[in-house]
Amino acid sequence: METVNVKFNGKPYEVQKGLTILKAAEAAQIKIPKLCDHPDLEPWAACGLCIVKLENSPKMFRSCAMDVQEGMSIITHDSEIVQVRKTVLELILSRHPNDCLKCGRNGNCELQNLAADFGIREVPYPQMVPDLPKDTSTSSIVLDPSKCVLCGRCAQVCQNMQNVWALEFLGRGFETRIAPAADVDLADSPCVKCGQCSAHCPVGAIYEKDQVSEVWNKINNQCPGCQDIYPVVQIAPAVRVAIGEAFGYEPGEISTGKLYAALRRLGFKAVFDTNFSADLTILEEGTEFVKRFTSNEKIPLITSCCPAWIDYLEKYDHDMIDHFSTAKSPQEMMGAMIKTYYAEQQKVDASKIYSVSVMPCTAKKFECDRNEDMFSSGYQDVDVVLTTRELARMMKQAGIDFAKLEDEKADEILAEYTGAGTIFGATGGVMEAALRSAYFLITKEELPDVNLVPVRGLDGVKEATIDIKGTSVNVAVAHGLVNVEYVLDKVRDALAKGEKSPYDFIEVMACRGGCVGGGGQPYGATDEIRAKRAAGMYKDDEQSEIRCSHQNPMITKIYKDFLGEPGSHKAHKLLHTSYKPRKLYNK
Ligand code: SF4
Ligand code: SF4
Ligand code: SF4
Repeated sequence: METVNVKFNGKPYEVQKGLTILKAAEAAQIKIPKLCDHPDLEPWAACGLCIVKLENSPKMFRSCAMDVQEGMSIITHDSEIVQVRKTVLELILSRHPNDCLKCGRNGNCELQNLAADFGIREVPYPQMVPDLPKDTSTSSIVLDPSKCVLCGRCAQVCQNMQNVWALEFLGRGFETRIAPAADVDLADSPCVKCGQCSAHCPVGAIYEKDQVSEVWNKINNQCPGCQDIYPVVQIAPAVRVAIGEAFGYEPGEISTGKLYAALRRLGFKAVFDTNFSADLTILEEGTEFVKRFTSNEKIPLITSCCPAWIDYLEKYDHDMIDHFSTAKSPQEMMGAMIKTYYAEQQKVDASKIYSVSVMPCTAKKFECDRNEDMFSSGYQDVDVVLTTRELARMMKQAGIDFAKLEDEKADEILAEYTGAGTIFGATGGVMEAALRSAYFLITKEELPDVNLVPVRGLDGVKEATIDIKGTSVNVAVAHGLVNVEYVLDKVRDALAKGEKSPYDFIEVMACRGGCVGGGGQPYGATDEIRAKRAAGMYKDDEQSEIRCSHQNPMITKIYKDFLGEPGSHKAHKLLHTSYKPRKLYNK
């Protein structure tokens, strides 16, 4: 690593060459305030809070916009700089509603924290809050432009991390606002509901559609027609390694047993684990892969368990629809199994089941009534989706002392899972789980080493070749939608020339890091946090007695007693779906 020698506030430091002054200061443990900068994004000098100056120079400049140079002597904090930062904050607050008590980010807002740090007690400028309506048009996220501080993170995330380009700045001067491109409603825009904008917004201007009250009312039988409902819940793989953060635990701490206990205390009559239906997904998708691979039909197969990716493919890449796996996501497979198999086994009227799922994801809210296949049980298979953040709030409202909860087990039906089901929550996890079982389905032998390390980690695109007893299977894993086109273009080029696809199997997850970095996870995710959450999942996998989905005894029983075999007519009816091209804009 090349370094340069600089001084911060008179003290010498050796820092990495090429870093911005802001990043170099952070590496030297000097915190410079900021609102627009984020570790996932390129700096773009919007907020003006990160100003610094050089020694013996009165001129101030934005530390995110200048790289460190050999010999620089940088002043990051003095009374003049602090005063200018305070003025910048006061100007931001003069066009902010400042209704912290009623805001979803209360207690967890970067602007609120800065106002507290700078001791702002009053704003000496007239309040000129833009009167802009909320956009509630999607079932996943809400955009409240009146709270926006124009930092631009959401537009950068949407354009540069997700390649969706649903958000942009419209208007000029005081009229500037963040809005869906072409000034349509979000629901009519190319938005794929990934929620990454909400995860990166420093204030409460974009947030998940909050359905906590709706779930409370149902559980407590306080709504018309819900007196005798039977509330049940499932929890997704990535929730268990992140929800603890809302209660002071480190990212990656595995909280499965505590979560089961908390969900029972909230009033759910049965607690299921989506890790189980992740195993079921592997059996269906793995069988589909083996069938296509051995007949060389519609290869590559592309995974389909991420609803934001489904939405993206249907809008941007519909030439590849035939390559999409028809297997539903684990959430939807579980929903279908609850209202059929579970209802039958427990003799519960399926029409009375209120099926809640807890997901790291805002797009899952959109998925649960995405098309008619999500009603395969004869009812809506999953009734409502809460994000990890919503469940954490619900637990706090219920006064649950998370730290003191004793571990409990999930219900016996639809909960037993393998290590393969657990790792679904990390990028590469679906591929690794699928290959563990594909090896068995092709060779009838077990994979000697189930740790497929080349598909793990945070590289945007991971490519690997897996040897299945002399047959090579070429795979690619992409996460963060901006990485998808590189992979798909390679496939398109080869197929257009009549050549073999460079990949046989492709995994795509919309969020960076996969679901551990989902748009509904606790705020503040960075690569360091995503890696810690993923490490928690791999630890859970390593500690599992059974690490391959096809070895899950509950899965074997369900095929024997209920579904027949993977890919059967009944499995297709309940566990598979279809896709159709969509327009980028509905209007
Ligand atoms: S949810 Fe995702 S696609 Fe939609 S606006 Fe936000 S970042 Fe863009
Ligand atoms: S909505 Fe949030 S992330 Fe987007 S520009 Fe406004 S404050 Fe920044
Ligand atoms: S990667 Fe996971 S959290 Fe993100 S949109 Fe897809 S399913 Fe949801």
